[in-house]
Amino acid sequence: MAMEVLERKTDEFAALRRTFPAVQQPDWPDPAALRDVTDRLATDAPLVSAGECADLRGRMAAVARGQAILLQGGDCAETFAQVTADSVRRKLKTLLQMAVVLTHATALPVVKVGRMAGQYAKPRSSPVERQGDLTLPSYRGDAVNGLEFTAEARRPDPARLRTMYEASASTLDLVRSLTTGGFAGLSQVHAWNRGFVARSRAGERYESLADEIGRSLAFMHACGIDTWELGTAEFYVSHEGLLLDYETALTRTDPESGRVYAGSGHLLWIGERTRQLDGAHVEFFSRISNPIAVKLGPSAAVDDVLQLIDRLDPHREPGRLTFVVRAGAERVRDVLPVLVEKTGAEGAQVCWVSDPMHGNTTTAPSGHKTRRFETVLDEVRGFVEVHRALGTHPGGIHVELTGDDVTECVGGGNALLAEDLPVRYETACDPRLNHTQSLDLAFLLAEMYRD
Ligand code: PEP
Ligand code: MN
Repeated sequence: MAMEVLERKTDEFAALRRTFPAVQQPDWPDPAALRDVTDRLATDAPLVSAGECADLRGRMAAVARGQAILLQGGDCAETFAQVTADSVRRKLKTLLQMAVVLTHATALPVVKVGRMAGQYAKPRSSPVERQGDLTLPSYRGDAVNGLEFTAEARRPDPARLRTMYEASASTLDLVRSLTTGGFAGLSQVHAWNRGFVARSRAGERYESLADEIGRSLAFMHACGIDTWELGTAEFYVSHEGLLLDYETALTRTDPESGRVYAGSGHLLWIGERTRQLDGAHVEFFSRISNPIAVKLGPSAAVDDVLQLIDRLDPHREPGRLTFVVRAGAERVRDVLPVLVEKTGAEGAQVCWVSDPMHGNTTTAPSGHKTRRFETVLDEVRGFVEVHRALGTHPGGIHVELTGDDVTECVGGGNALLAEDLPVRYETACDPRLNHTQSLDLAFLLAEMYRD
């Protein structure tokens, strides 16, 4: 799709940083170097077009109305080293496989959005990290500093913003060519799922759903249905819009519609730590027209949530705003109902999505940060139960996953044990579901939607 040339809103957004407090921003050591990098980004092509962002907003409107499901997933933190064709292909493949299962089970379109092509910046609970006697700045994602625990690596370097742009562009290139080039065809994706079911320990449980999908495909084939849609997939990219220097440099006005768009990705979200009502993130997000999301933790106050709606979706437009709930399996059934009820009473048609990862992180005896698959599943179950009880739409899931066979979360169909964690623990930040665990989640979520 051709990129539109969008004009930059430089001065307005530079002023935003002076007027509103911005938390979780790096301490860039060299302001002149930062300025050089952002000046150049400001004249570069945006990574996504206004038209694509508007299309996704339309898809999200269907989610808000209960006519579609969102599947959003990818790494907690992408790394520059992992921008390889294989890694991107495996993540995409995993998401496409999950999407086919969910589409069939719900008979609804699944809106596919990667946590990809821009997920390089991390908020941290502490600005520093200690190892033995040494205290250094925390790792804030490859967009800011290096993971290696040395003073040199941990020093924020604005040149990394340039690398982030380039890495995001290559990832997006690959995603675009794979999703239109045959890789994402429905029969191909179904064949992968067949392979998964055949190898899975829980195979029998999943087999009937896989059989039904196979029969539907055979039926379509027999009827001579062979449309472009069967051979391609519509896929969007998203990341946390954390680094305002980067995001504002890539923001443009669409000359056709006059609307302002973040040009760094289709959908951006505000994290749990940066959703202050008087902060720079909420202000920036209120000025862009992309579909946006906000994470809500277990202590999100109803009043704050209603004010977020007033700030971010003042016209109550379905598709504009998504709330990603990450309350934890123990809390979700208690905290979610009141948020959903009061939001509905305000006339807002937001999308409700479950992030079952971030409220369920624990530390294993080995010291590895981990998550139990069964707890993750329980939070999703609680989320669906709450919506079923209220007669509202469980709009989908937001998960941290990878297409690789890593050992970062315990449990799931491959029964990963805490002792297995060191075998292949590769995440730069939070533990991700591996390929098998991701597909387990899709099949089990499919059962929940059907119940
Ligand atoms: C994340 O999505 O990786 C994250 C930091 O989430 P949250 O803002 O919900 O803590
Ligand atoms: Mn995370």
